[in-house]
Amino acid sequence: MTGTASDRAALAAVVSRTRYLLLDFDGPVCSIFAGLPAPTVAEELRKLFTPDQLTDTAKNTTDPIEVFIQAAEVDPKLAARVEAEMTGLEVAAVATAKPTPYVHEVLAGCRESGRTVAVVSNNSAQAVNSYLDRHGLSDGVGLVVARTSHDPAQLKPSPHLLEIAVQKLAADPAATALVGDSLTDVEAAHRAGIASIGYANKPGKRDAMTEINAGAVIGSMSDLALSLRAYPLPD
Ligand SMILES: [Mg+2]
Repeated sequence: MTGTASDRAALAAVVSRTRYLLLDFDGPVCSIFAGLPAPTVAEELRKLFTPDQLTDTAKNTTDPIEVFIQAAEVDPKLAARVEAEMTGLEVAAVATAKPTPYVHEVLAGCRESGRTVAVVSNNSAQAVNSYLDRHGLSDGVGLVVARTSHDPAQLKPSPHLLEIAVQKLAADPAATALVGDSLTDVEAAHRAGIASIGYANKPGKRDAMTEINAGAVIGSMSDLALSLRAYPLPD
């Protein structure tokens, strides 16, 4: 396993009380933009803006979701067009998305220990479902709660999507944890009153996630897979 003894203890503390495991999609499940890079998607979305609609942030960001947020600040109709285009590009990107190492082992660990898995994502529900179908993961994932609206305020770091997942699963928030690779995932989990496991898949993330009190931080999904096997389901 990666990490220190205290990392492993923090992970064990979260996993041993987790019956409902929520997975962020881009990061913990796959790298959706492995073949169609996010900066290319952001560039495509920018083309929907007129020159006077382009804020400095919209002009410079390489993050498609940030372009969407900027669109919503300008005009809801522009946000709707950007969201629809982004959905199309995300669905196209599924064909070249790269599975995250050991995510299949995490799903197997949940299945074997009787834990329920849901995917909670800022990416479009269409793209998430398409990816899960393509990779034979639909049966292992009990629920998908993802972007279906052109209102970015509903996306993480808002707790909105997590609250829907908790409600639809009839889950006890105290027995629920989100695995995410962004600080906004940790923040959304805090706001939803559930535990968080930060997936530190890039340098610097571990410290940043620890700083905002992620319940645990992992450097590889294999850490989580091993922990799920080691700690049986809570009573
Ligand atoms: Mg992510």
